[in-house]
Amino acid sequence: MDRRIAVLPEHLANKIAAGEVIQRPESVVKELLENSLDASATRITVVIKDGGKKLSQVSDDGIGGDELDAKTSFLRHATSKIATYEELEEIRTYGFRGEALASIAAVAQVTMKTRRQSDDAAVVVRIDGGGAPALGREGREQGTLVAVQNLFFNVPARRKFLKSASTEFRHIYDVVLRTAISHPEIALEFVSDDETIFKLEPSPLGERLVDLFGERQVESFIPVEERGPLFSVSGYISKPAFGQRTRANQFLFLNRRYIVSRNINHAVYSAYEHLLTKGTFPVFIIFLDVDPRRVDVNVHPSKMEAKFEDEQSLYRFVSGLVRKSLADPAFVPALTLPQGKEAAEDIRLRFTSRQHSWPGGAPQGNDWVFPPRIDTVTGEILSENGQGGRGLAEQLLRQPDGPIPKPARSGESAQELGPDQGVSTGIWQLHRKYILSPIENGVMVVDQHVAHERVLYERAMHRFANAVGATQHLLFPRTIQVGTGEYSLLQELLPNLLLLGFEIKLFGKNTFVLEGVPPDVPKEKEENIVSDVLALFQEYQQAGPLDVRENLAKSFACRSAVKAGDPLTETEMRSLLVQLQAARMPYVCPHGRPVMLRISIDELDRRFGRT
Ligand code: ADP
Ligand code: MG
Repeated sequence: MDRRIAVLPEHLANKIAAGEVIQRPESVVKELLENSLDASATRITVVIKDGGKKLSQVSDDGIGGDELDAKTSFLRHATSKIATYEELEEIRTYGFRGEALASIAAVAQVTMKTRRQSDDAAVVVRIDGGGAPALGREGREQGTLVAVQNLFFNVPARRKFLKSASTEFRHIYDVVLRTAISHPEIALEFVSDDETIFKLEPSPLGERLVDLFGERQVESFIPVEERGPLFSVSGYISKPAFGQRTRANQFLFLNRRYIVSRNINHAVYSAYEHLLTKGTFPVFIIFLDVDPRRVDVNVHPSKMEAKFEDEQSLYRFVSGLVRKSLADPAFVPALTLPQGKEAAEDIRLRFTSRQHSWPGGAPQGNDWVFPPRIDTVTGEILSENGQGGRGLAEQLLRQPDGPIPKPARSGESAQELGPDQGVSTGIWQLHRKYILSPIENGVMVVDQHVAHERVLYERAMHRFANAVGATQHLLFPRTIQVGTGEYSLLQELLPNLLLLGFEIKLFGKNTFVLEGVPPDVPKEKEENIVSDVLALFQEYQQAGPLDVRENLAKSFACRSAVKAGDPLTETEMRSLLVQLQAARMPYVCPHGRPVMLRISIDELDRRFGRT
């Protein structure tokens, strides 16, 4: 090569730049939408044909431009959004590089029509594959329309790599959807091959989400919100029982710009740990607001990633907020029975949030105030109708790990929970499966097995974390023989089993002596508990990777908990509910199933035609 170094001609440089910025029709739509948002548009219309391959067009009612603006906008590095380095440090617009229009025009046939309010006609600029612009005028409303036709018509290699119209459509749909979520105050219309995909009027975020996702899905959302000195977060997350099979409905907006962040995703997931069924993912729509000086959005060709000044505290902020929101008692699922036509088609019961006050914010307070008749400080049962022996109540109240943790609400004493609350003290077992208890605004239905499982699971995890296992010594130690596989698993898990409160002596020859069990194990289960736990442990292990202790805690909780079919005394039921109330996450079992439901008086009134 004996050529001299030379600066590339602009049209060639643009074509090269286009390779990075413009990957497919989706990128065109994204860039055009961002320009409309930056131009303070209040109405935006997106029209595509053939998955955007034939046409991607965005029109707005924004500030528009004059002839000079229109011509300049297609030059590389031409932008009206930043002028100094200081402004680059503090970006408040979507665009700032000034290369989108230049890149698009280099690889497509572009028409821009734009008019400022003060001008009497719109300027029309047409550029074909980076050639010289052709100018014209036309009568038009204020605002800008950019039509991009035949993307990559002059770059056959790229054109060939475009996918089918339906695939390209889906990518564009995602981009328009994100804009619809992040800008509910903007009217947004989306038309594909002459079909209106959606036509959204300006509305509060909650209503916009109902338009986009449907009422059902939105009812499964929990609002999250917290303002901090460095970050503010708001938005919605799904109740754990409503995990989805894919990660599709996860949206993160940084200063209203859609971004992808593994760090923040992980922060959200970590808060759902132990709450979701395997293979399901939470839905989230999270708006993160950060001072633009503390974040760099100029680190990715299509600005889909950002670099934060303090990733770690952001992580803690997000996971703490999600954790807290998930534990909010206001989000115990309420039961609504399907009615009318819907009932005939779908007799499954629906879980919905307690009140339809969403999205105005979380309903405040906790109406779970049934009188436990238990001293919450000493753990002593104040009512005397428990059965003798090691009943559930006694096990639950033995509290080997210290006093019962106080319920989350502070300042609440046993007296406040006393019988003068105006709530009936009744508590019933239904079909030896569910516990029914009146609450302030209706009735609470608790699944006895799942509830007990949750309590025991948390207790087990607490023992692992604090190494405070307690043991119930057996009067007659048992010598137990197991299979070889089971024995080697037992050897492997022995340290953790000891932490849980088991007293096991390995004897060799597939034999061990059981001298003590955690106090949670009911008498009749002592004999088989070790084998049962090991078997379930293996079952969970096969289902997918799981932390050893978490698996053990789950297996232990499931095998020691009361079952459906076990009769419970009133005292046992009360103590279970008290324990549950003190749990960190009382509303979902370790597998993500709901622990309790409530049926509101309103719902009953409605069913009985009282309203
Ligand atoms: P950037 O958005 O990074 O500034 P672009 O190439 O996307 O670069 O756009 C270049 C310029 O064209 C913008 O800075 C803006 O001044 C102008 N422009 C583009 N689209 C619009 C629009 N829809 N309304 C008004 N001005 C626009
Ligand atoms: Mg732009």
